[in-house]
Amino acid sequence: MNKTISKHLSTCSYCGVGCGIEVTKDAKGAIAVKGDEQYPVNKGMLCSKGMNLNYVVQNTDDRILYPQMRWSKSHPLERVDWDTALTRASAVFRSLIQQYGPDSVGMYVSGQCLTEEYYIANKLTKGFFGTNNIDTNSRLCMSSAVVGYKKTIGDDTVPICYDDIELADCFLITGANPAWCHPILFRRIEKHKELNPDVKIIVVDPRKTQTCSSADLHLQINPGTDTMLHHAIGRALIESGNIDLAFIENHLNGFEAYKEKVLSLTMESYAQACGLSVEDILSAASMIGDAKGFLSMWTMGLNQSAKGTDKNLSLIALNLITGHIGKPGAGPFSLTGQPNAMGGREVGGMANLLAAHRDLLNPEHRQEVADFWGVDQISPKPGYTATEMFEALDRGDMKAVWIVCTNPMVSLPDSNLVERALKKARFVIVQDISYKSDTVALADLVLPAAGWLEKEGTMTNSERRISYLPKVLNAPGEALPDLDIFLRFAQKMGYHGFDFKDTEAVFLEHVKLTEGTNIEISGLDYQTLKEKRSVQWPYTNGKQQERLFTDKRFYTPDGKANIFPAAATNELEKLTPDFPLVLTTGRIRDQWHTMTRTGKVNRLNTHIDKPFLEIHPSDAEVRNIKDGDVVEISSKRGTVRVHAQLTDKIKEGVVFLPMHWGKILQHDLARTNNLTDRLLDPISKEPDFKYSAVEVVRY
Ligand code: SF4
Repeated sequence: MNKTISKHLSTCSYCGVGCGIEVTKDAKGAIAVKGDEQYPVNKGMLCSKGMNLNYVVQNTDDRILYPQMRWSKSHPLERVDWDTALTRASAVFRSLIQQYGPDSVGMYVSGQCLTEEYYIANKLTKGFFGTNNIDTNSRLCMSSAVVGYKKTIGDDTVPICYDDIELADCFLITGANPAWCHPILFRRIEKHKELNPDVKIIVVDPRKTQTCSSADLHLQINPGTDTMLHHAIGRALIESGNIDLAFIENHLNGFEAYKEKVLSLTMESYAQACGLSVEDILSAASMIGDAKGFLSMWTMGLNQSAKGTDKNLSLIALNLITGHIGKPGAGPFSLTGQPNAMGGREVGGMANLLAAHRDLLNPEHRQEVADFWGVDQISPKPGYTATEMFEALDRGDMKAVWIVCTNPMVSLPDSNLVERALKKARFVIVQDISYKSDTVALADLVLPAAGWLEKEGTMTNSERRISYLPKVLNAPGEALPDLDIFLRFAQKMGYHGFDFKDTEAVFLEHVKLTEGTNIEISGLDYQTLKEKRSVQWPYTNGKQQERLFTDKRFYTPDGKANIFPAAATNELEKLTPDFPLVLTTGRIRDQWHTMTRTGKVNRLNTHIDKPFLEIHPSDAEVRNIKDGDVVEISSKRGTVRVHAQLTDKIKEGVVFLPMHWGKILQHDLARTNNLTDRLLDPISKEPDFKYSAVEVVRY
């Protein structure tokens, strides 16, 4: 056995839980991983994905090892050196910007990028290309929650800390399956309930997921009716007097309009719309009303919706009318999907944001950032968001896109449009670690990137905890850290302000921009992060803030929180006789996103090894479908062909497909997003992956 020669502390690169990992490296360079017992998030625990990260790192068979370029669409990709690759990239971007204007180009980045990479990608695009066409796959994940927080508590900030889990006595887990998708947080909830059996867990989901195994109450709701349910619970809380009148009086705006809205329908009407019983809704309301610490937790089931903003507003209202915020064990807690979706937004990593949560539409904020970067101005025009960007490429309004660390050919809605858009684009750069990314096939320029442990930088998890990730290994072949690629490109473009001596210098520039904002981290540097292991923002005078709003002053102009009479109408894709079933999509336990990393770990493929369709036995029976049959699922946009899995854990009239498989890992017809719609929430611009009208037939 080889002796350990070095030990390093890092953070898991998969989900927003942000577990601490201890990495050991032996004399032959082989690494082993285990949960960091001292880390406050996971206290030594790791889920199946995290504990197999070493196999992902060590198996480099799929890695992109050198830049590749095609000289025209009809030429094959051929190996080139970095100088040729970046000279071409800069020449094309410069020429397109001159000929068609800055909005003809854009970047599509990822919640997997490190904060420093995100910062520089934003500086390049917004400061120097002169366009706000930079968006991220976090748009598919969190943007409805961002709008919910901004409208209610005044900023995009998670008010709770993870330690509130052990202090809560009622959990409302809605639109989320944390048992599979945020496993370590769910382990903490399970353990808390084991030790305190009176703790109540309410789960809201059209599917009976693994999370329901710990639930006191499962509300198997009709898809798309979440706002109705929230209003029904709000009504029941008001009618039973289980609201915090002092909080409402002193710290809340909008209660009367909200009250009028939720009282406008009867409990019976709400129950019928939601497909639930009045008793179950009242039972949920009474668990919440009796709680000393009420924690609402949600993720994609609410966010990924054409009504995502309303669903968020109506849920957060339940915490606000009961005063369950800013106190132990209480608050609205959106579970972040990706490991650094928070860090990305901290540096302004969306088409409508600026650094340190500044607002793109605010002229003063734009000027502050422009002055800081030494440029004349930031464009006042919001950029294309994720889905809009590919629509713009399809229309020809955008000519070039630089895709970093994400696989939109599989993950964006209406994949067939995305594929067509990438074929039509003049120039597509794909910067990735793996050939398993389907999008690589349509690139004009492929740039090999370094992966986890092969570069340093920082990430922020979903309790605002910033951690430092060290470089432990050299990247294979000629792969470079994303940051180095951006900085080399900026030099080729002749831009000033990109001459950083190291990665920390980029971090410190970001820190400077946070001064005076709600997310201030003044004084934070790599040495402090290494010593403290991690800190939660805001961090000033050497002190972090774990739980926010303990003084009940919110980040709004008058310091009060806001609630809204959110519309409960369900303006989603209509079911028709041709497409009478609702398709909802999601994740499985052992896979991550489009499987470019987890898909190459044998033991992670043993849990579920192929795509499948969950369908209720009665929906299957009328279609003459048996368990295991190959079925064809169709929507107005495309088709998918997979094996049927009959289960009464899914509500009648609803079918479920996992979102992971794409062309490369299966075949053309396993790509779930062939079916989904590009319908967006009008404010958050988050697409709706949870409600598509489909039909299923035996193939
Ligand atoms: Fe990684 Fe998330 Fe699993 Fe923790 S819960 S080990 S962060 S995938």
